Amino acid sequence: MAFQQFLNKIAPLAKLTKTELQLLSAPEHVWKAELSVSGKKYPAYRVQFNSARGPYKGGIRFHPEVNEEEVTNLAFWMSLKTAVADLPLGGAKGGVRINPKDLTPKEIEKLSRAYIRAFYQHLGSQQDVPAPDVYTTPQIMAWMLDEYETLTGKKDPGMITGKPLEAGGSKVRDIATALGGVYVLEEAVKKIGLSSKKVAIQGFGNAGSNMANLLWKAGYTIAAVSDSQGAIYSASGLSIDRVLSVKEKTGQVSLVPGVTAITNDQLLELAVDILIPSALSGVITKKNASQVKAKIILELANGPTTQEADEILQTKKILVIPDILANSGGVTVSCFEWQQNLAQESWTEVEIKNRLKEKLVGAFLQLWKKYSAAKYDFRTAAYLYAINKILAAERQRGFKP
Ligand code: GLU
Repeated sequence: MAFQQFLNKIAPLAKLTKTELQLLSAPEHVWKAELSVSGKKYPAYRVQFNSARGPYKGGIRFHPEVNEEEVTNLAFWMSLKTAVADLPLGGAKGGVRINPKDLTPKEIEKLSRAYIRAFYQHLGSQQDVPAPDVYTTPQIMAWMLDEYETLTGKKDPGMITGKPLEAGGSKVRDIATALGGVYVLEEAVKKIGLSSKKVAIQGFGNAGSNMANLLWKAGYTIAAVSDSQGAIYSASGLSIDRVLSVKEKTGQVSLVPGVTAITNDQLLELAVDILIPSALSGVITKKNASQVKAKIILELANGPTTQEADEILQTKKILVIPDILANSGGVTVSCFEWQQNLAQESWTEVEIKNRLKEKLVGAFLQLWKKYSAAKYDFRTAAYLYAINKILAAERQRGFKP
């Protein structure tokens, strides 16, 4: 599996003992089920990777490519992500192998409830706390909470995050992934003294569209954006309010009038300063990495860069801000939502934004210090930092390295 390859590569740098490597090489639990909706069966998973730092945490995705290996890899990265942002949580991930676009809203509700019926004994605010991920929404979280509380017979709003505000959700959670990305990016821009701020954003889902909007409002030039159906480019910058309204009406950014249509591949190779992959994994590959011209890559998606591509980007001295830091704003505000639910509180928007900024700027500066003092790249610095935090918690609990 990809995460095991990665661990083997990083083990000598992290000076992992054999027992430590063994501990990190397998998830604590893998739960599997088959969900039935309208006479069809869909494989479903919940992989709980590591809980040394707290209850398991991580999203559930509904996607046709979901499989046990992918969910396990993502559960591993979640464990690292919560450690980097210093959240008192572990790492998990869930998924159902399905194309939700083939389902009616009623069937999606049935699927969401079936997921909880299959796994509810392993979930809970002190056990494992799911959240949205690819193609899952606040509405889905509300159905899941409802099913969980019906089955267990007690209220536990902190058993899932990313809920609608009316059902115990948190302010700012809707834009949290993107906002966290902005805070981290602003620090990186300062550190490398980037004066021109031309941006290309690949993906226009929750993370990508909010990122485009926030950066545009902050004065960045958004030269290109894309969705699964195509990409658009304007040398002088796109008006993101127009792109958002066309996307909302038609579902396609490429129907924006008066801009140049390009392909998703061309977008990745544009002469911009900042490239932000915000969709699925594995888009920056050994085929296109040598053509990337950006000075900073901010990984708003999970795992957008393959390992071979990463090595090419390193030789080109491109600063890659890895997913486990760049997109950790989502899980950070999820953690705030969980804390509000447990304490039966409701924090203000300003309070949440301040806390998010403090967490992510703090994490960035901490990692920058390590990166500047070491011989390796920023991604490696982030991964080593996270692994050491998990192992420190394991040792405190009695694990003998
Ligand atoms: N699915 C998001 C992620 O990959 C959010 C997870 C969460 O909020 O728990 O980070």
